[in-house]
Amino acid sequence: MEQTLSIIKPDAVKKGVIGKIVDRFESNGLRIAAMKKLELSKKDAQNFYAVHRERPFFGELVEFMTSGPVVVMVLEGEDAVSKNRKLMGATNPKEAEKGTIRADFAESIDANAVHGSDSLENANIEINFFFAKREIS
Ligand code: ATP
Ligand code: MG
Repeated sequence: MEQTLSIIKPDAVKKGVIGKIVDRFESNGLRIAAMKKLELSKKDAQNFYAVHRERPFFGELVEFMTSGPVVVMVLEGEDAVSKNRKLMGATNPKEAEKGTIRADFAESIDANAVHGSDSLENANIEINFFFAKREIS
């Protein structure tokens, strides 16, 4: 069993597709082990995406992630990290495979509906960033 972190980004929350996205996970063998809705501060977003701080799009990324509420979740299941990435689709929704979350709900590479941890190691770090042990069950 693995755990991974998922974020429903501000564009998808604004569109009102939280339920539809959660359904993709639950219908594909990923259990919601923790879930909450919150607004990231600028500091939160900068720290969360610190690996990208040298990239040219970092400013826009932080701006976007703080543009409205997000839903953060711990997903649990077999191969949860890679399964979630597969369900999400490519970073650029225009390149995302049909039937993936990004192909169906995202508009652009900045507003791409969801985040998912890219490795088990990062999943651990990202889960601890958002959740206390007692919030995960
Ligand atoms: P995420 O980390 O959000 O799950 P990802 O792992 O598919 O997405 P990363 O390479 O980690 O993609 O990039 C993090 C986020 O930065 C992307 O989700 C996207 O919103 C933004 N991003 C990535 N590349 C670009 C780009 N070339 N131009 C604008 N924004 C970008
Ligand atoms: Mg990433």
